Amino acid sequence: MSDPSLGARMERITRDFHLQREPSFRALKLAQIEKSEGREIMEIAEEATFDSVAVGICTELSCDCTAHCEPDATANYCEACGRQSVVSVLVLLGLI
Ligand SMILES: [Zn+2]
Repeated sequence: MSDPSLGARMERITRDFHLQREPSFRALKLAQIEKSEGREIMEIAEEATFDSVAVGICTELSCDCTAHCEPDATANYCEACGRQSVVSVLVLLGLI
């Protein structure tokens, strides 16, 4: 069975810390979602609220991959970097 390694757990803690303590980090990721989608963030969030699919973004510092995810996703698989690091736009906005 695959218990997450200490390294992976530390990565998760570090990332959660960034998300919770650094509004600018969140804002940066939200801006990257807007750029990637070519739409306003509130439009994207509104769509996610009424749909079962949301736009998410990888929260690794060195990765800006966007993906579709569940509206409440906090640790989905990132196809670009292979980490469990994709967070939904609604979570980034603090709406969930
Ligand atoms: Zn990634």
